[in-house]
Amino acid sequence: MADVHSPSVRSYNMSRIKGKNTKPEIIVRKFLFAQGFRYRIHVNNLPGKPDIVLPKYRTVIFIQGCFWHGHEGCKYFVIPQTRTDWWLEKIKRNKENDLKNHDLLIKENWRVIVLWECILKPSLKEKTLSDLIEKIIR
Ligand SMILES: [Zn+2]
Repeated sequence: MADVHSPSVRSYNMSRIKGKNTKPEIIVRKFLFAQGFRYRIHVNNLPGKPDIVLPKYRTVIFIQGCFWHGHEGCKYFVIPQTRTDWWLEKIKRNKENDLKNHDLLIKENWRVIVLWECILKPSLKEKTLSDLIEKIIR
């Protein structure tokens, strides 16, 4: 039977699978750069390969897709009705990996900031980004 996702939503999700330079990430990078922050991106030698690393603040930022990383209670986290168990298992594994990587980073004295894609939608983006600065510099 029909998937709960429309084709456009599904292809949106699919584009996130190995998403590099996805749009929400670019929003954050452009903003930080304009604010004078300097960072590295997709740092391979840190657990979980953080999307943005601010060495000066010993801070890493993960921009997490609500579907792939299983954002609890989020309207964008909708498990497909076909192959439901497979999806649940896959997303559970993603979440476990996220937690494991965040823990490793925290143990190495990094501050870990997670930004969900849903709070980078146009209506929420401004507040999210100003909160982000507070978190980085505090
Ligand atoms: Zn979300």
